[in-house]
Amino acid sequence: MSIKFESRSVNEAFARQAVGAFASQLDPTMEELGDIKTVVSEAVTNAIVHGYADRSGFITVAVRLFEGRALEIKIKDTGCGIENVEQARKPMFTTGDDSRSGMGFTIMESFTDRLRVRSAPGRGTVVTMTK
Ligand code: ATP
Ligand code: MG
Repeated sequence: MSIKFESRSVNEAFARQAVGAFASQLDPTMEELGDIKTVVSEAVTNAIVHGYADRSGFITVAVRLFEGRALEIKIKDTGCGIENVEQARKPMFTTGDDSRSGMGFTIMESFTDRLRVRSAPGRGTVVTMTK
């Protein structure tokens, strides 16, 4: 399934609930469902606050089901991109203001089996997670 929505903060809750509803067909535990919603929330928030920091744009969330067991979640923006992905993924690294703790990627990594980040400055970012 895939959804596309504007980079407004209200849409973060929409994306989290939509992916949660889709993932429910796998009969996840409450904990697994919570993890899925949390990582979607982190990645979509990043697209909104960092990717589209000074303009609005569209975010796509695509979810695929593998053999009825594993989920692949892809969050894509065409915003500013990330200069140095390796550095951005480090715990506590942030380019944000004081309200940011720089833990988003660390949370995504620890709550999923695999996190891939593809990004090009000026062109956007694709975050792919498997769980
Ligand atoms: P927190 O998630 O704890 O509120 P944070 O968003 O700064 O803080 P991460 O989610 O780990 O921390 O992201 C680290 C950094 O990577 C961000 O500060 C930002 O510079 C960059 N980044 C992450 N996602 C994107 C994105 N979609 N577009 C552009 N830059 C991004
Ligand atoms: Mg973040």
